[in-house]
Amino acid sequence: MTTAAPPASPAPPQVLLAHHLRQLKLPTFLREYEKVAAEAAREGLDHVRFLLRLAELELIDREGRMVERRIRAAHFPAVKSFDTFDFAAIPSLNKPLVLELARCEYLVARDNIIAHGNSGTGKTHVCLALGLAACQRGFSVAFFTAAGLVHQLREARDERRLLKLQAQLAAVKLLIVDELGYVPLSQTGAELLFEIFSQRHERGSTIVTSNLPFEEWTSVFQSQRLTGALLVRLTHHVHILELNGESYRLKQSKARRRREVRPADPEIGEITPAP
Ligand code: ADP
Ligand code: MG
Repeated sequence: MTTAAPPASPAPPQVLLAHHLRQLKLPTFLREYEKVAAEAAREGLDHVRFLLRLAELELIDREGRMVERRIRAAHFPAVKSFDTFDFAAIPSLNKPLVLELARCEYLVARDNIIAHGNSGTGKTHVCLALGLAACQRGFSVAFFTAAGLVHQLREARDERRLLKLQAQLAAVKLLIVDELGYVPLSQTGAELLFEIFSQRHERGSTIVTSNLPFEEWTSVFQSQRLTGALLVRLTHHVHILELNGESYRLKQSKARRRREVRPADPEIGEITPAP
């Protein structure tokens, strides 16, 4: 006697739903629907409101994931924000202008920013914070040091993929080029970098930080003609940030040392040796 195989039981709806939500790329729906359904039941929400709550959660999470993705794609050496920046430490910096720039409208206008100042005054911190603000507001960002960018451009040229890299760099909404001026560029390096600034002109914003005033940029690009042409493009619509002062870290460590050598508080009383 043969026994008929039991009919295949249909997959439980939770399994199918999980599958469909994954296909639709709605991970927050999948993670939250049971919890939100229980909440909806408790609060007497109808189906539309239940779905609305889930859709809102998915949107919030998706935005967060996109910000994270933009931050990763920017290749920041560190993630820094204005929350940890002490404006009082650098009075030469125009705080209202920086806070205005943090709203990112300059990116819509495709303006550039140049931050000048000696070493340790917070130029990199400020451009990282502006880069982070741009990522949070939905703009694509790429961060390079000037030397690093030139290195990548040369490598791309040698490997015959310069056009592709140039197209990527032209497309990004904000290009940050940190530390222009620390190392003089070779003629090829200067030309490659010039090409990038030129291609981005009026197409996207560029932030450049430098320890050198404009008059000395010729020493980096080694050519008066190239420097002139570059400055015309870069300074066409530009916001200038001046960071002049003592290095922030140096000032902090001096202040720490001063605190450490301060004499003992007489109120607390010192142990006086018995006569
Ligand atoms: P720069 O690029 O001008 O050489 P950095 O931005 O690298 O200077 O600053 C050096 C260090 O000091 C960094 O760790 C930075 O976060 C910190 N720093 C500089 N200025 C400030 C400031 N005003 N408030 C808080 N941290 C600062
Ligand atoms: Mg720096």
